[in-house]
Amino acid sequence: MQFADRLQNVETSAIRELFKLLGKPGIISFAGGFPDPSLFDVEGIREATAAVLRDTPGPVLQYGATEGYGPAREQLARFMAGKGVQVAPEGLIVTTGSQQALDLIGKTMISPGDKVIVEAPTFLATIQCFRLYGAHVIGAPIDADGVLVEPLERLIAEHRPKLVYLIPNFGNPHGAMLSLERRRRILEIAARTGTLVVEDDPYGELYFDQPAPPSLLALSAQVPGSREWLAHCGSMSKILSPGLRVGWLIAQPALLANATMCKQFSDAHTSNLTQATAAHYLTLNRLEGALDQVRKVYAERARVMAARLRAELGDAITFDAPKGGMFFWARLTGGRDASAFAQRAIEKLVAFVPGAPFFAHDPDLSTLRLSFATADVAKIEEGIARLGQAL
Ligand code: PMP
Repeated sequence: MQFADRLQNVETSAIRELFKLLGKPGIISFAGGFPDPSLFDVEGIREATAAVLRDTPGPVLQYGATEGYGPAREQLARFMAGKGVQVAPEGLIVTTGSQQALDLIGKTMISPGDKVIVEAPTFLATIQCFRLYGAHVIGAPIDADGVLVEPLERLIAEHRPKLVYLIPNFGNPHGAMLSLERRRRILEIAARTGTLVVEDDPYGELYFDQPAPPSLLALSAQVPGSREWLAHCGSMSKILSPGLRVGWLIAQPALLANATMCKQFSDAHTSNLTQATAAHYLTLNRLEGALDQVRKVYAERARVMAARLRAELGDAITFDAPKGGMFFWARLTGGRDASAFAQRAIEKLVAFVPGAPFFAHDPDLSTLRLSFATADVAKIEEGIARLGQAL
């Protein structure tokens, strides 16, 4: 069968191949990117689902508007207001996870051969999604404070990219938090050069000790001319439940209109039932309590993981402990290859993801990603001890 040419731009992710090995009995996995299901606020979601089915069965079970279910757009606009973003309900569209928002941005903005800049490393699905639309994806270097501004500015000047994609808060896989000063400078560059910056923020609420700085979108109010160059992707996945598939996109009206048109041909609209459930949930005043619990649990797991990595792997590994999110991004020293290490780790019944696939090009083969979200403290201790043995 002759498939579309665009499929030649992508391959199945190396990570999926690795996941096939995770079924081994007794394996401790730091490989996944899932939140811990035991932290889902099942009771709250049950209450919200029951309420919307009781009070508004017709609309929530019916076809709906592509832009999103009215009460969901209202509640999400309020949620963003709580994070310092002034947006009208009509200023956002609800998407089927933020993954769909990224796809809609790709569909709306990228023509074959266009250049886009991403962090090196970045979210693998974004690289793949943008490549499917024919993008030439260019990586910009990062450190623990996020993307480095001067190299980014040089890459923008050199390549005139269609867009720059950033995960400013505790990104997947890098765990870095973009500093406030860098956020401001990036907004100035976006406004000055007329470059679309896509801010993907599924992890911002998962901070440990103190909240992340305001989002690029929130800060854009202070940088004249920057807001029209921002697209912001939000998600309920890491703060409420990924199975609901509720995300959102905030962007300037023309981009939003085109994204809505593309969505119409894709899934018509996001499930009204899950949108309504998420919206009702937000009125229950449970989210902060639930999030506090998630933050506490993840912070403890991250603390234990950092301590055990230092104790068990010592000089063989370097990392900056994350200030939030779900991931450690680490580097093996002494020229060690993370893929070979991953194979040996699997033999010792512990799994993680080698970092190479997260680079658009020139992968750093010594890097790896460890998730601390789903393993409890005892498993983290045992798993990192096994990593020590594998080394
Ligand atoms: N962006 C990033 C950085 C992610 O890590 C993920 C999911 N792991 C997504 C977007 C997509 O999330 P969702 O579609 O569930 O909102």
